[in-house]
Amino acid sequence: MTVETSPTGVPAPRDTGPQSGADRSDGAGAGDGGRGSEHPLRRHRTSTLSATELADVRGSLSPSRAADFKTCPLLYRYRTIDRLPEVPTTDQVRGTLVHAVLEKLYELPAEQRTPAAALALLQPEWQRLAEAEPATAELFAGDAASGLEAWLASAGELLDGYFTVEDPQRLEPAERESLIEVVLDTGLRLRGFVDRLDVSPAGDIRVVDYKTGGSPREAFEARALFQLKFYALVLWRTRGVVPRSLRLLYLKDREACDYSPDADELARFERNLGALWAAIERATAAREFPAKRSRLCDWCSHQARCPEFGGTPPPFPEPAAEPGAGATGMPATDPAGAPAAGSAGSGVLADGATAAGTVGFVGEPASASPSRGGDADRPA
Ligand code: SF4
Repeated sequence: MTVETSPTGVPAPRDTGPQSGADRSDGAGAGDGGRGSEHPLRRHRTSTLSATELADVRGSLSPSRAADFKTCPLLYRYRTIDRLPEVPTTDQVRGTLVHAVLEKLYELPAEQRTPAAALALLQPEWQRLAEAEPATAELFAGDAASGLEAWLASAGELLDGYFTVEDPQRLEPAERESLIEVVLDTGLRLRGFVDRLDVSPAGDIRVVDYKTGGSPREAFEARALFQLKFYALVLWRTRGVVPRSLRLLYLKDREACDYSPDADELARFERNLGALWAAIERATAAREFPAKRSRLCDWCSHQARCPEFGGTPPPFPEPAAEPGAGATGMPATDPAGAPAAGSAGSGVLADGATAAGTVGFVGEPASASPSRGGDADRPA
């Protein structure tokens, strides 16, 4: 359990909690296919932090919420403070489904991880998702039912794309769908879910994130890299190792992009996150979250209440007097307060270091692009 504080007695920004739709886009918004730290199949996962660590928390950020504020402060407010519901789109749900299938695929023995096996997982995983989140099933209710088959086929194409960029028979992930989190010295808690972690026999870490969105990649690429740097920072601070590689797998484009961070860069990124959190605290104190128009508005669920589109924001929420609230009236209970579910995997790659170049990861895609940088970690 942790206490989320607010300097002003207004609702504390929260990056976790019941599914509002806001967290469907952990990391990269619609470009990610809209899955997130609170997507229906992740709700059971809770904090890995001890009570002592949680006692030091003065604020909490996930990569998606941090990226929201950088993208548009009003979007951050709607998702994190107002917690306005967002109806999932078929693209977002497809992203969740494909991620679920890829996670399940790695539960199979290596030799059984075939394209046919992945396709066979689609229907049962869709059933599981629909039961966990009835709103997803409603996307294909009534007249829309006829679209389900084609939609599942489009998910199958993304899975097919996966097999063109990686060979899962040659990989043994250390962790999948893993919750990682840390409390920085400043009291800022960082947390997020990593699609996959690979660890080479030499101990090198690779962070892998699957991108399933059908939206233009360039609109979301900076956000995606921001997400991976966020994870790299958490891993560095918790495990003492700078990940050797950050890998984005674009399943629709059938392309892998690798990036290698270094400690100096992550230290800068950490300072920038601190500055970002300070900006969020100032905005919360002033109750000022300006709209910031960009290409990403095309994927925003809140245009009807956005001044940039002729709408009017609702009144700023007043603090709720919840049981257990602290002096500020803030909720004192963080749903992420218990030990995390364990992550699966053996912790090492299945193969040696010879097949994949210097890093020692196996199953490297032939199409992996050269490492490239980005400047996505500057505060808004
Ligand atoms: S429509 Fe654009 S400017 Fe308005 S809240 Fe959404 S992201 Fe922000």
